[in-house]
Amino acid sequence: MGRNEFLAAVCNVEDLPSLPAAALEVMRLSRNKDVTLDQIAGALQNDPALAARLLKVVNSSMFGLSREVTSIRQAVVIVGLRAVKAMALGFSLTGLMSFRSTEGFDYRRYWRRSLTTAAAARQLGRGKGNGLADEAFVAGLLSDIGMLAAHRKAGEVYRSVLEAAAAGTAIEAVERARLGVDHAQIGQAVLHAWGLPPLLCEAVGAHHGAGVESVSGEGRALAGIVMGAARIAALFNRDPGAGLVEETRADVTRLTGLGADIVEETLIALDAHVNEMASYLEIDIESPVSYAQIQAEAAAAMTRFALEAEADRAASAREVEDARRHAERLEEEKKAILEIASTDGLTGIANRAVLDRRLEEEVRRAQSQREGLSVIFVDIDLFKQFNDEYGHAAGDAILKGVASALKSAVNGRGLVARYGGEEFAVVVPRASSAEAAALAEELRNTVAKLVIHWSGRALRVTASLGIGHVDALEDGMTAGQLLHLADRAMYTAKRNGRDRVETTAGPTGPGGTPGTPSRRVAAAPN
Ligand code: GH3
Ligand code: MG
Ligand code: MG
Repeated sequence: MGRNEFLAAVCNVEDLPSLPAAALEVMRLSRNKDVTLDQIAGALQNDPALAARLLKVVNSSMFGLSREVTSIRQAVVIVGLRAVKAMALGFSLTGLMSFRSTEGFDYRRYWRRSLTTAAAARQLGRGKGNGLADEAFVAGLLSDIGMLAAHRKAGEVYRSVLEAAAAGTAIEAVERARLGVDHAQIGQAVLHAWGLPPLLCEAVGAHHGAGVESVSGEGRALAGIVMGAARIAALFNRDPGAGLVEETRADVTRLTGLGADIVEETLIALDAHVNEMASYLEIDIESPVSYAQIQAEAAAAMTRFALEAEADRAASAREVEDARRHAERLEEEKKAILEIASTDGLTGIANRAVLDRRLEEEVRRAQSQREGLSVIFVDIDLFKQFNDEYGHAAGDAILKGVASALKSAVNGRGLVARYGGEEFAVVVPRASSAEAAALAEELRNTVAKLVIHWSGRALRVTASLGIGHVDALEDGMTAGQLLHLADRAMYTAKRNGRDRVETTAGPTGPGGTPGTPSRRVAAAPN
């Protein structure tokens, strides 16, 4: 159903609950500008029940009059004609409605909300001090009349709205979505049709915010008060979509322009006022909620929330810590694995895999930088015999000793690796052939002088060294070719008597022809 269609159907006032004769007479009279107080009072007096309700409410603590009002005439003088007229209308409605929950409409809830809105609006209006307190009270009391009208005129459609709202959405939002109009706007149309003052109609129409921008002047102030009161009523009524206490306080302060202290006073006094009014109007609204109760619930919810947040925080901190430890463990494992993978198990120096990788890198770099590069092969002499004579364990001790002696002698000038068996290789980047030869001689001397104390014996070995050197790597020179040069030179050293250094120069190195053993660098000293 579209907005206009729906509004038209609902606002057909003939079908609305017929107001008591007294209320209708008050309305008829007040359309006349020259109506007298006596005429109004007389009309209301014709309905003793209505008059009694009116007097009770006017005398309630909420109105805070200094002396008791005993007649409708006095009430009209004190509270004002507009307010008395609107109250008569509002209170006459309470007599019309059955308070049983019928066909999905919860009348108790309806009146509890209406009385709460009315009492809150009056208190806020009084705080505002602009003479709108009684107007605000009536606007609050009638603010939800659109719900009654909609339910009465479009029961089936409106029941589905009520059901959807009960599932947890603010009713005005469901109404706008399904009907194109909310109960505030319906109420405005109904009150307008009843001939109530535009100020009041507009305030009711805007109490859920729709169209409030187009209300100006006094009406704007009243609309703000009724909007604030509606928020408060939603909170106290535990309506779906109601704000929390803090949120409601802040909203009401903003909507009314009142200080936080006045809003707080309104909230504190509210349940007493609502109870009092309900009893005077003989409306059963079922245990209204007190502000203290709402605050206690809010405090409990805050505590729960804080505890949950703390638990969440602790859990996530734990997760972060677990993840950090896990990453640390992985990093350590990775390091350990890499170390195992890159270290020779017996000697603890770099293994063949590391040698191959480093040699590839150095070849690439030497090629791009046009630098010299050397590889020195170190092969222990007659090691098989040594093993045979002293045993394999003695051989192992020698391998360890030679490895660490080579490493400390090279002292960072290159990489020392175990090539395999009793063979070691040293990669020497950026060295001239003379520097490589000098280093190789130093290494030969180191091995020759090395004494390994093992099982009460002083063990000694010598080694043969071969240098593969190029001054500047030609394009296409590979690591394998460079190793081959060193290996060939080492075999030359073996052939030439062991415990010596030989060099095989690369294509541009000394000696010209690749692979030609070119010179004996050092002779065995003994
Ligand atoms: P050359 O001077 O010609 O190099 O003679 P060599 O005996 O050193 O040469 P060969 O290649 O014939 O023998 C190498 C020996 O090294 C054979 C092997 O028993 C020994 N060897 C290889 N790896 C190990 C090891 O890890 N521990 C021990 N104790 N011996 C090893
Ligand atoms: Mg050997
Ligand atoms: Mg060998």
